Amino acid sequence: MVSYVLPPPPVAAIPVKGSDAMFPVRRIFCVGRNYAEHAIEMGSDPTREPPFYFTKPADAVVTNDADMPYPTVTKSLHHEMELVVAIGTGGKNIAVGDALKHVWGYCCGLDMTRRDIQNEAKKTGRPWDMGKGFDKSAPMGLLVPAAGIDPAKGKIELKVNGKVTQTSDLSKLIWSVAEVIANLSELVELAPGDLIMTGTPEGVAAVQKGDVLEGMVEGVGEVKTKIV
Ligand code: MN
Repeated sequence: MVSYVLPPPPVAAIPVKGSDAMFPVRRIFCVGRNYAEHAIEMGSDPTREPPFYFTKPADAVVTNDADMPYPTVTKSLHHEMELVVAIGTGGKNIAVGDALKHVWGYCCGLDMTRRDIQNEAKKTGRPWDMGKGFDKSAPMGLLVPAAGIDPAKGKIELKVNGKVTQTSDLSKLIWSVAEVIANLSELVELAPGDLIMTGTPEGVAAVQKGDVLEGMVEGVGEVKTKIV
């Protein structure tokens, strides 16, 4: 038996739909600028970029529709509605044609972003971590097993206080779910428990305390949180 000098941290986990079991989260990878219209709204050229990634800590997940506290040190908290892929079988150098076999399930997620801090980091060439990977920055809905889900199409939408702010379709992903898994697995060996946030469509905007965010992906489910 290993003995630890401190109690080991609790395992971050996402509830599975229709089950008492939880999906343990190992790492959270996020794809940047993966819908053309969002790349354009952020001032980038969507046509020439290979996928790139940033990360959030596993314990950034917020589950069960829990409230998300408005983070410190920002005046511009933005919502980014995303399809989230949960890896069940790890691997490296995964072929595009095999990639979806590595998926355990899917859920809806919000890549909450301190946009002012991220923009400052872009300008100065500094890391994005404090703009993206802060505490409770990843509200997630229930995880749904992959069987029967086609991540190549389906409406993706976010409402803030009942009003649609983001709406698109998974078919507009620049890099498909299978291509993202294959590409990321060349950079790191994927492992069971890894999550991949696949990028957000256009319509990102700032939220305020009291706002209620309700996102959905057709065929996958919902995510809900209130900013407090
Ligand atoms: Mn994002």
